Amino acid sequence: MHYQPKQDLLDQRIILVTGAGDGIGREAALTYARFGARLVLLGRTASKLLAVQQQIAELGGLPALTITLDLLHATPEQCQQIAGDLATQVPHLDGVLNNAGLLGDIVPMAETDIATWTEVMQVNVNATFMLTQALLPLLLKSHSASLVFTSSSVGRVGRANWGAYAVSKFATEGMMQVLAEEYKGSHLRVNCVNPGGTRTQMRAAAFPLEDSNKLKTPADIMPLYLYLMGDDSRRKTGMSFDAQPKRKPGPAE
Ligand code: NDP
Repeated sequence: MHYQPKQDLLDQRIILVTGAGDGIGREAALTYARFGARLVLLGRTASKLLAVQQQIAELGGLPALTITLDLLHATPEQCQQIAGDLATQVPHLDGVLNNAGLLGDIVPMAETDIATWTEVMQVNVNATFMLTQALLPLLLKSHSASLVFTSSSVGRVGRANWGAYAVSKFATEGMMQVLAEEYKGSHLRVNCVNPGGTRTQMRAAAFPLEDSNKLKTPADIMPLYLYLMGDDSRRKTGMSFDAQPKRKPGPAE
């Protein structure tokens, strides 16, 4: 995407990123901070969140908050508690990037282990929903809020062996569409981003034989992530965006 964001695009915006300790989420958090946002970093590994918080401080960003939460074991009560605590520290949320995700196993449906299936659904769908539901009141207090879900090419067209992950990403697209309809005409827009093959640990687990140097880095795909959080996307809702629209799904060639 050729997008030239203004340097103050996210000035004073308050944005929560899940899975902010690593991969694409970490890069998005750092990028949003560079463009003036105040970050709420949510993830399961406290040390990784603290490292990102420190990096934001070093680049001169606004002080970031951290929330340690393992989505695998998250309950609705825990999510409500987190949102309640957050409401005592920030007046509203201008953005939520639901980025944390679990890959599970790449195996045929017939061989899929039900425990792994359930874990992938819990992290990618159930906990993402619980957290989103709990954060909606804070998003609705913003005069212009962006809720972004993270999809995948296998969340639009099924692919053999991508089982639970693919089904969870179809569900993510559905969750986005339902919410976008429900908040049409309000100050809240809801969209999906498909990063496309990107150089992270999850990608390496999915394609262990791939030459990762042929992949875009998380930093390369940030223009779309910025566009979706800033006011330039204000009128877009219910849409699914590709960070690498020209890329063919599958291993890097
Ligand atoms: P990574 O595995 O590099 O990072 C995932 C992040 O999510 C990590 O910070 C991880 O935390 C966090 N996370 C995982 N499980 C949980 C959990 N149970 N509770 C809280 N946080 C959790 O993945 P990517 O950066 O590659 O992926 C980011 C998103 O992009 C995912 O939704 C993925 O499905 C999607 N995507 C990625 C593509 C790619 O090519 N990379 C392609 C298409 C979609 P921790 O660091 O503690 O492990």
